[in-house]
Amino acid sequence: MSLYPDSYYAASLDKSKTSSSTLNEEHSCDLCVIGGGFTGLSTAIESAKKGLNVILLEQNIIGWGASGRNGGQIWNDVAWGIDVIEKKYGESLAMKMWNISQSAVDLIDERIAEFEINCDKKNGGIHAATSAKKMKEYENDSIYKRNKYGYEQLEILDRKEVSVEIGSKLYYGGILDRGAGHLHPLKYCLGLMEAAQKLGVQCFENSCVVKVNQHSSGIEVLTKQGKIKSKKIAVCCNAYLDGLELGIENKIMPCETYIVCTEPLDEAIQNTILPNNYCVSDTNFDLNYYRLSSSKRMIFGGAVGYSLKNVEGLKKRTKRQLDKVYPQLVNHKIEYIWGGLIAITVNRVPDIGMLNDNIYYAHGFSGHGVAFTGIAGKIISEGIINGKTSELEAFEKIKHKNFPGGRLFRMPLLVTISAMQRMMDVFNV
Ligand SMILES: Cc1cc2nc3c(=O)[nH]c(=O)nc-3n(C[C@H](O)[C@H](O)[C@H](O)COP(=O)(O)OP(=O)(O)OC[C@H]3O[C@@H](n4cnc5c(N)ncnc54)[C@H](O)[C@@H]3O)c2cc1C
Repeated sequence: MSLYPDSYYAASLDKSKTSSSTLNEEHSCDLCVIGGGFTGLSTAIESAKKGLNVILLEQNIIGWGASGRNGGQIWNDVAWGIDVIEKKYGESLAMKMWNISQSAVDLIDERIAEFEINCDKKNGGIHAATSAKKMKEYENDSIYKRNKYGYEQLEILDRKEVSVEIGSKLYYGGILDRGAGHLHPLKYCLGLMEAAQKLGVQCFENSCVVKVNQHSSGIEVLTKQGKIKSKKIAVCCNAYLDGLELGIENKIMPCETYIVCTEPLDEAIQNTILPNNYCVSDTNFDLNYYRLSSSKRMIFGGAVGYSLKNVEGLKKRTKRQLDKVYPQLVNHKIEYIWGGLIAITVNRVPDIGMLNDNIYYAHGFSGHGVAFTGIAGKIISEGIINGKTSELEAFEKIKHKNFPGGRLFRMPLLVTISAMQRMMDVFNV
């Protein structure tokens, strides 16, 4: 039986997870969902609500992937920037994407309320600027979002205000986004799992899909020990997608990223660090993203490594980044450290679509998946039930390039790009 990585999240669950059986015989269904993270569970929930008979297959245990390991930070917008989408594809598509990204954030609160999920959700997040130039960009962006999209949740913080809100002198200023927030991702994921099961979704764990065969009568999904005959499938494997050879693998690049979690903060400094319990994301290319847990530990993510060869180096790098933001935490012990894979696309817009009338997929959330995965599942589900929707058409318009070469070539290429970006951060370019 596969277990979760040794993370703070796995250690702080309120109740033990119920396990599901392994697929070892033949079943049939309307929809087979591959992947038991936020995207797969969201697709399954929406489809079961509309009356489909749904089976979900997870190669490990539900929540084992990025959904059970992430920083828990909820942000709207897409990583590429809505202004970039507007310049490249026009106002109407940008408005559509903006509205989708807003619905993504709202959907989290709706599901927490609907399914009574206890996952320590808190509101508010700060984008912190590491240079005066970046602060100016943030200011312009918040004015643009207010004027163009009517988004009123942003508040500009000057240098003094941001240092009080964050408890760090590192930043030139920041933007408080009251629409952002954070949660305990594994609790949320398992809450979605329970909701899906209550709606009749049959989940199988330790059931890795090894092959997908397409026939005129439907799809055959094979695991090592079992088989599903399904009318349609949804591929929700994100960065862990490997070997299914469906023709979408080259659209995403898996990148390893690490999070450290300290022991609970000393009481003497608790009120000086993130007193309003916001989460923070700063402007380094390898962004630092951090927040407090409900037990007042610092959960700090940062290092992104495109090569898995130097895991120890990446761990040290994350701790160095933490010490730079919070020198007052240098002596706080790191009690947990874990890593996981994010999937980026070349333009950092999620790749959501259909390969044909029977195969749907969503991946490449490029570090913004806590919110976007939920709406992605809803979009796929609506497509499965109603055919191509206006949301699917919107994503189809955004063209995704393949990462060049195979996996072996993609890694060194991205290491080089990333090293150049880090250098620019160091010199505040
Ligand atoms: C360390 C880390 C920090 C992050 N922090 C943030 C953050 O703060 N905010 C944010 O918005 N995003 C963050 N992200 C990204 C976010 O977690 C992801 O975008 C999101 O969880 C993706 O969800 P998913 O369901 O698509 O994929 P996953 O949760 O990765 O689920 C995919 C599942 O598919 C399964 N699978 C793969 N292949 C098969 C197969 N052949 N058969 C059966 N099952 C299969 C995997 O085992 C996995 O469980 C972070 C990611 C990481 C790794």
